[in-house]
Amino acid sequence: MSLLAVGTVAFDAIETPFGKTDKIVGGAATYICLSASYFTKKINLVSVVGEDFPQESIGMLQQHGVNTAGLQVKMGEKTFFWSGKYHNDMNSRDTLDTQLNVLETFDPVIPEAYQDCEFLMLGNLVPAVQRKVIMSLKNRPKLIVMDTMNFWMDIAMEELVKTIAMVDVLTINDAEARQLSGEYSLVKAAQKILTMGPKYLIIKKGEHGALLFNNKQVFFAPALPLEDVFDPTGAGDTFAGGFIGYLANTKDISFDNMKRAIIFGSAMASFCVEKFGTERIVNLGKEELDHRIQEFVNLVQFDISLV
Ligand code: AMP
Repeated sequence: MSLLAVGTVAFDAIETPFGKTDKIVGGAATYICLSASYFTKKINLVSVVGEDFPQESIGMLQQHGVNTAGLQVKMGEKTFFWSGKYHNDMNSRDTLDTQLNVLETFDPVIPEAYQDCEFLMLGNLVPAVQRKVIMSLKNRPKLIVMDTMNFWMDIAMEELVKTIAMVDVLTINDAEARQLSGEYSLVKAAQKILTMGPKYLIIKKGEHGALLFNNKQVFFAPALPLEDVFDPTGAGDTFAGGFIGYLANTKDISFDNMKRAIIFGSAMASFCVEKFGTERIVNLGKEELDHRIQEFVNLVQFDISLV
């Protein structure tokens, strides 16, 4: 079953307590596609870059089985650029710069060959563009997952709320859940956000794991306690890519299967943070992925008898 991934393909400049990068290739859709490629090989990308974007990086995505027919390359324009600096705890960061560049005028075009997609991952992007993608599909996908961030809550809340109303699963972090709902308690925030349209809400809590809510159930997945977190950039997108990639591969969108998908997403994210940018998730082996999944199982498994 094919997966359509939409989101930024970008240049990032990252600063963490461990070091600093110049412009490296990043972007929400880049992380999503790479991560999902470990679960499904039918990935179609819709995004935009400028003339300055390296052809080798497009080739790298193609080598992971990503169809880039929907990646527009705008001659004479510059790729979206984001720069961020992490604090010592690595759980919070400041955005130093966001240059929309090609995103300012981005009009997504869905190639005819993408129309049969059954899973849609709307990565972090202008909310109106995310919505246009949904409306450009002739048939509604089996599952629409959407990610977003505080940046869009700050500058485009009205558009964002309209888009959220159209999706099945929303993934945001704890601070964003609070900002979106106006509630401090994450349980109350989830209840409120679930009335805004999505049937499921995933609240990511960085090194403290992730929560999955629907209106009846809640599931918690831990994050793997890692000795060193090198660079958290893209962890949320990598999580989302693993989550939807696993669902697309198993074709099962039940709550129970979403629990498994969250573990696969969390495992992918745990690799992502071990090196700068996409470096760690470009070349993962099946054995190390299986081993990490087992580590998650061991982390939460216990016997208990109630007397
Ligand atoms: P994450 O760490 O999961 O929040 O994702 C970081 C990625 O999101 C980086 O590679 C950035 O290029 C991309 N990004 C940062 N700000 C935005 C934004 N406002 N819209 C879309 N993508 C963004």
